[in-house]
Amino acid sequence: MIIISSCLLGLNTKYNGKSNFNEKFLKLLKDKIAIPFCPEQAGGLSTPRSPAEIQGGDGFDVLMGKARVITKDGEDVTEKYIKGAEEALKLARIYGIEKAVLKSKSPSCGCGKIYDGTFSNKLVNGVGVTTALFLKNGIEVICSDEFLNK
Ligand code: SF4
Repeated sequence: MIIISSCLLGLNTKYNGKSNFNEKFLKLLKDKIAIPFCPEQAGGLSTPRSPAEIQGGDGFDVLMGKARVITKDGEDVTEKYIKGAEEALKLARIYGIEKAVLKSKSPSCGCGKIYDGTFSNKLVNGVGVTTALFLKNGIEVICSDEFLNK
């Protein structure tokens, strides 16, 4: 059993009210091994919502209080991102889940690369807040891009 970013399965949880659907991810659900979860919604954010990026570091830095998650409108939504990550971890603990497939580049679910915080489409090395909390707690994270290229 794994946790998967819900937008990958076609649920319209993305900031713009759309999804990142791909048939390959839906197959995981058909095999009954994937639990869809959106940490941004679980953290209390609405959909659609203003896009956000991490400023001053990555998800690990957010958890250490060294970086913030800021929307394009300038709102600080750091606490909601942390709450969403904690809810995701809670779900993983309930089911004893040790692996997740998360959406690349997201400030919550990203792994390997995330946007740099300037809203200019530039990527930097780093992970999202939920990914960071998963990794800190021994949960393996597979990036969606990596999964698709397998
Ligand atoms: S927070 Fe994760 S699951 Fe939710 S829309 Fe963003 S990438 Fe998808």
